Amino acid sequence: MSSLISEDLRAAVDAAKADVCALHAHLPAAGLVAWTSGNVSARVPGADLMVIKPSGVEYVDLTPESMVVCDLDGRLLEGGYQPSSDTGSHAYVYRHRPDVGGVVHTHSPYATSWAARGEAIPCVLTAIADEFGGDIPVGPFALIGDESIGAGIVETLARSNSPAVLMRNHGVFTVGKSARAAVKAAVMVEDAARTVHLARVHGPVTRLSDADIKALHERYTNAYGQQGRPSTENGAK
Ligand SMILES: [Zn+2]
Repeated sequence: MSSLISEDLRAAVDAAKADVCALHAHLPAAGLVAWTSGNVSARVPGADLMVIKPSGVEYVDLTPESMVVCDLDGRLLEGGYQPSSDTGSHAYVYRHRPDVGGVVHTHSPYATSWAARGEAIPCVLTAIADEFGGDIPVGPFALIGDESIGAGIVETLARSNSPAVLMRNHGVFTVGKSARAAVKAAVMVEDAARTVHLARVHGPVTRLSDADIKALHERYTNAYGQQGRPSTENGAK
């Protein structure tokens, strides 16, 4: 395969390809995607590179070798397919958020129904406070094709604790320290959207207080899980 990747990055690139390919299986399994929609990307550690899903390839046909490598301007560097049409949005996030190691995009149905209405998901459950640290925000409407989706994601998340944003009239983007963390956020935002929707079928819901949200989020962020062990958020299992 012809490649513009330097040999010293080969092991890191190949590991990212395997990781991103495997993580894509979560999207159909969790009911987050229809047909070929949705995508996962990962930053290659130590390089200005990202690995992302090829455009238009069915989930069952994805292999590590079919993953596409781009630079952080979205230019194709390695791969037999064109990169996802959302590559420019992912690349913008990596350029402007050095802390982000993974990005996910879906049109998962419950969360996207909130995006269709331009309505934030209110923080009415402890699980939402834990994972999102407040309401799950709405980002601006933006057309695919330039940097406006990426800019809308970065600007909206800068004003929020949330790793997820509901892009108005479009769908969900999530970020994480790793691609696995971003996939987890994509699963959790759909779960939150569904549960709050079901609650509202029965009647009004009550938002948690800011003080309770802060306490829950800090406890979850700092104390929850297997302290002192390798974190699954970093890709270890
Ligand atoms: Zn989309």
